[in-house]
Amino acid sequence: MKTNYIFITGGVVSSLGKGIISASLGKLLQARGYKVTIQKFDPYINIDPGTLNPYEHGECYVTEDGMETDLDLGHYERFTGIRTTRHNSITTGRIYKTVIDRERRGDYLGKTIQVVPHITDEIKRRMLRVDEKDEQLDFVITEVGGTIGDIESAPFMEAIRQLRWQLGHNAVCVHLTYVPYLKAAGELKTKPTQHSVKELQGMGIQPDILVLRTECHLDDAMRMKVASFCNVDLECVVQSEDMPSIYEVPVSMQRQGLDAAVLRKIGIPVGETPTMTGWHAFLDKQRNATKEIHIGLVGKYDLQDAYKSIRESLNLAGIYNDVKAKLHFINSENITHENVADQLKGMAGIVVCPGFGQRGIEGKIIAAEYTRTHDIPTFGICLGMQMMVIEFARNVLGYKDANSREMDANTPHNVIDIMEEQKSITQMGGTMRLGAYECNLREGSRVYEAYGQVHVQERHRHRYEFNNNYQKEYEKAGMQCVGINPAANLVEIVEIPNLRWYIGTQFHPEYSSTVLRPHPLFMSFLKACIESL
Ligand code: GLN
Repeated sequence: MKTNYIFITGGVVSSLGKGIISASLGKLLQARGYKVTIQKFDPYINIDPGTLNPYEHGECYVTEDGMETDLDLGHYERFTGIRTTRHNSITTGRIYKTVIDRERRGDYLGKTIQVVPHITDEIKRRMLRVDEKDEQLDFVITEVGGTIGDIESAPFMEAIRQLRWQLGHNAVCVHLTYVPYLKAAGELKTKPTQHSVKELQGMGIQPDILVLRTECHLDDAMRMKVASFCNVDLECVVQSEDMPSIYEVPVSMQRQGLDAAVLRKIGIPVGETPTMTGWHAFLDKQRNATKEIHIGLVGKYDLQDAYKSIRESLNLAGIYNDVKAKLHFINSENITHENVADQLKGMAGIVVCPGFGQRGIEGKIIAAEYTRTHDIPTFGICLGMQMMVIEFARNVLGYKDANSREMDANTPHNVIDIMEEQKSITQMGGTMRLGAYECNLREGSRVYEAYGQVHVQERHRHRYEFNNNYQKEYEKAGMQCVGINPAANLVEIVEIPNLRWYIGTQFHPEYSSTVLRPHPLFMSFLKACIESL
């Protein structure tokens, strides 16, 4: 089968959940046995979101091959189990950089370099994945970030217009819009959708399928109206109502025939509707998991999206443990010795979150001390793990001034130190220790028990590391280094075996937790939280 290309754009407003729709469509096509990949094109100038503050862009997701990417890639992976790469996350910045580098090399032989055709050609090349050594793909789903009509997304729209012409039946355009409900008038309004489609048509793109985001159910008359005003078949107008969980979306899309509409447009026989047994089993578990368990997220970003993958990993592990994980953000900047008991009250366990810089770290250290001395299950991730290590040095090993070199360059007890290869780095973008690295687990440890194997691979995003000069002291005092990277002898996991569950990982297990394969460490952590009640 020839590769088919699906383009997903959004109109009216942002934050409609294009990423969830893209991931759901990917899931549905995959369930039909097709090979699928999903990629995101973001119209901003940054090369990647790696240097962006989470308040700008939410979590920075990391692929196995070490690319810092948009958080939508997390949805793609969690829904489909596909492992994305650096080729699945493209920004305007990367497009321009490629073109400008080429220009500096002299590759354009004296030509004037322009947005059309040079930038649009580069966008097209990447949309078609010309340079990628993909296995034969049946579908490439390309989600374009932002809202159509933005000045900055215009070159992407032009590339889609050209590709559509070039690919004919092998290209399908899906447009996501918003249908607001006006309470005072008691009416749903389709006008913004009509305008958005007109705008798209003005750019030469006729959408094949419309997905209408709505908070209220749209009846057939409403869908018919949209279909006739927008030149779209009635069965190609689907609605995306608010759902109790994002994981219900694929099923809702399947019920309305989103995947079937795509196949019909391309001219592929639709065939039987896949049963998606595993997915439905998960949804049943989710519906039945009503008993609540409270987990505290100790961090500094008061924004849901900043810890997206951690939140989803906890939710998923909760569901598989038959409970509903109620997550509470606890701002570490507000935690003091005096109020820590109060701040963590009612929590069955806490996650000490990743992060950068000084702000909020003392609160994380106080929280780690409290949970260590009160035997409350604790999961430290990256900076969170580093804070557990510092806390242990200060309060158990007796090094009151212990710190990370990141926070105090001159600390005499640098239990967390800068990695050797990071010392000479001056450029901040894309230069951390990024992506998947091997880790060997110590047999008999709790993490070994959780994974059920010695060799694992996990994804990283950090510059600082556990200082091995202190390893013996830690081990003697009861904090074990139970996960080691064999190539660099780097400590990847610490645990205190005498406690219920007190584990810190230098890596980010949250990046590889998926709906059908919740991560073993999150599973084990949730289990310990439940048992501690
Ligand atoms: N700031 C720490 C480091 O660079 C931890 C990074 C993180 O939590 N992702 O090592």
